Amino acid sequence: MKFYRSGRDAMARLGLAAPAEMAGVEARFPVYVNEYYLGLIDPADWKNDPIARQALPDVAELADRSSSFDPLAEEEQMPVPRLIHRFEDRVVLLATGRCAMRCRFCFRKREWADGAELADISECELAAAAHYLAGHPEIHEVLISGGDPLMLPFPRLKQLVETIAALPSIEVIRIGSRMPVVWPERVTAEIAAFFGEVPGLWFATHFNHPREVTSEAAAACGRLIRAGVPVVNQSVLLRGVNDDPVVLEALFRRLIAIRVKPHYLFHVDPVQAVRHFATGVERGLEILRYFRPRLSSLAVPTFAIDLPEGGGKVALQPQYGCNGEYYDIHETKRIRYETAPGELSE
Ligand code: SF4
Repeated sequence: MKFYRSGRDAMARLGLAAPAEMAGVEARFPVYVNEYYLGLIDPADWKNDPIARQALPDVAELADRSSSFDPLAEEEQMPVPRLIHRFEDRVVLLATGRCAMRCRFCFRKREWADGAELADISECELAAAAHYLAGHPEIHEVLISGGDPLMLPFPRLKQLVETIAALPSIEVIRIGSRMPVVWPERVTAEIAAFFGEVPGLWFATHFNHPREVTSEAAAACGRLIRAGVPVVNQSVLLRGVNDDPVVLEALFRRLIAIRVKPHYLFHVDPVQAVRHFATGVERGLEILRYFRPRLSSLAVPTFAIDLPEGGGKVALQPQYGCNGEYYDIHETKRIRYETAPGELSE
């Protein structure tokens, strides 16, 4: 796979000249995108293209210099390097800072700003993380994230997963990876077969737009699913990319058709250099309301915000009624609902 490390080269691949201001943005937040993902962009309308907006620098990234780079306070919740322990029963393990693409909306942009990159996890770091987990039997779930853990060479990835899976208190391992979206062929049959053998292993990927659900991406998810790995999707609501109910309906329909469950739709975190993607929470609620009469619950993800200062996720829902009266699915009438006989009688 060919990778591009500059906006100028990526634009040239599209047959376009890079705007002058792009260089200033990528000096701060580098470009990294591959042949496959660039091929999903419509060059004729690249400025409005939802795929280009996820991959190519935008001057808006430099507009906000006051927001935090780490509003979720991840760095403060690391009892040992690489391990974020925010909630009692689960942790996040940062396996590497490398990714197959640098997404412009990335909430861990701090890890790759100015060309910095978190190295692959070392033997010592993995041993320290495993030691911490062994000493905290209340932890039952490990999300292996990064960066993208599928950037690790397969033997290293295998060793890491086996080390975590061998801990008696760990019941669930979640692999957080955008690889089916940005480099589908990297999800090899070998990786899928290995994941399928690990009890309690789930795969969480990150499609944001229906055009990302290509035949190659569907095949990558299919390899995992056929190997016995459940696959869920976490999208981010992104202004100018997918903040349109028709676009998201198409995305979620395509995902359930390939047996990938839409799990979360997140509002953009208040992270420096990504805030121009924020839509406001109300937009997400409007989109959920649009879905209600149209989409089966299988296709509808939980809409959520992740609170700053490590406050955790809050699932949000439109209000459909109160005091025992609720709007019907088309919101044309209110219907009384008694949870016990006579509850609502005067
Ligand atoms: S793949 Fe994930 S971690 Fe990597 S740049 Fe994209 S959003 Fe960030």
